[in-house]
Amino acid sequence: MTRVLWPLVKEKLILPFIDLKTVYFDLGLTERDRTDDQVTVDAAEAIKKYGVGVKNATITPNADRVKEYNLKKQWRSPNGTIRAAMDGTVFRKPIMVKNVKPAVRTWELPIVVGRHAYGDVYRNAEIYTEAGGKLEIVATDKNGKVLRETVVEIDGPAILQGVYNTDSSIRSFARACFEYALDLKIDCWFATKDTISKIYDQRFKIIFEEIFATEYTTKFAAAGIHYFYTLIDDLVARMMKTRGGLLWACKNYDGDVMSDMVASAFGSLAMMTSVLVSPHGLFKYEAAHGTVQRHYYKHLKGEKTSTNSVALIYAWTGALRKRGELDGIAELVSFAATLEGTVIECIEDGYMTGDLAQICDPPPVKVLNSTEFLDELATRLSRNLNYHK
Ligand code: NAP
Ligand code: MG
Repeated sequence: MTRVLWPLVKEKLILPFIDLKTVYFDLGLTERDRTDDQVTVDAAEAIKKYGVGVKNATITPNADRVKEYNLKKQWRSPNGTIRAAMDGTVFRKPIMVKNVKPAVRTWELPIVVGRHAYGDVYRNAEIYTEAGGKLEIVATDKNGKVLRETVVEIDGPAILQGVYNTDSSIRSFARACFEYALDLKIDCWFATKDTISKIYDQRFKIIFEEIFATEYTTKFAAAGIHYFYTLIDDLVARMMKTRGGLLWACKNYDGDVMSDMVASAFGSLAMMTSVLVSPHGLFKYEAAHGTVQRHYYKHLKGEKTSTNSVALIYAWTGALRKRGELDGIAELVSFAATLEGTVIECIEDGYMTGDLAQICDPPPVKVLNSTEFLDELATRLSRNLNYHK
């Protein structure tokens, strides 16, 4: 469904107002299949070249999609490929409107989720053994030294998983989170399960502590913000009692799961911005949600959908604002702010899509379908920009 919305967002909200010069890569499944996924690699290279990218949601094919699209194979997640090329941390922030109250009563300010976008279970190796036996992990280091650890000796069918991360990626993750917290002037909270995972998770804890102590103690004090570390279960419990207004640094899997929970608790998956920030100064903006497949099948049947395009629009405003900042184009920065303001104004005036209509208070003035919502925004944007065709 996001592939249907993407050109409409451009046509109605961007192209009439911006002399857009972009390099375009079609990451649709058909094109990825045709190019043996080279197009994804090219897109990642282009972000490295230009510094800023904006990406639509993409399908990570499973067995059903392979059949549906008649694919050569189950291509990897394009996000995985692009993240691996950029390294980096994904920051996700809920978009708040007055008439949608967070599910958690105490949350008044956005909770930003900082998700480490490298390694762990997303680059794992797994084994299923029918007979069981001795399950081990082995590392042969560069000097040929063999490190070996028995996980368990067991009878019967069993599963084993190997995951990894690197000091350098964890350092970048820590720095990215501390920088982001400083930029937004909000506290940074981080948690792992270091009491149970005494080497793996503890490494994250130690690296965060070291980087904070050597590079950020004074900067945080000057900004009047704090770094707080605790165990993940303790953090989750405490988070429910905060006012929000902080950065929650999450390991890769925690961030995957918790960012959807935070988005949904703040109102809707479609009201969450997402940007991948790389330590090399590269930025990739996207929506936090997927392709909204269920709505697409309705659309194919000729039914009207009420799909919320706010996160897609914010992907564009994020990218345009960053481009404007990097190139010193004040008008572009100001356009991004006006478009975001228009989206908020429209929803707060009671004109919204179905996902928000179910939970907003007071009830909506009008529930709009996917295109009606974009048309309503276009009319308001022209007015707010004082633009006449
Ligand atoms: P999804 O696209 O995030 O949608 C899950 C459900 O959330 C939808 O069915 C819908 O609920 C609601 N929703 C999400 N975005 C919405 C929006 N903009 N407006 C209104 N409702 C919205 O997840 P999915 O359907 O499980 O995944 C579909 C595909 O997306 C998969 O192929 C997956 O690989 C891909 N994916 C891509 C990315 C990415 O590229 N960044 C991320 C995640 C998933 P209702 O049906 O109840 O209305
Ligand atoms: Mg996810």
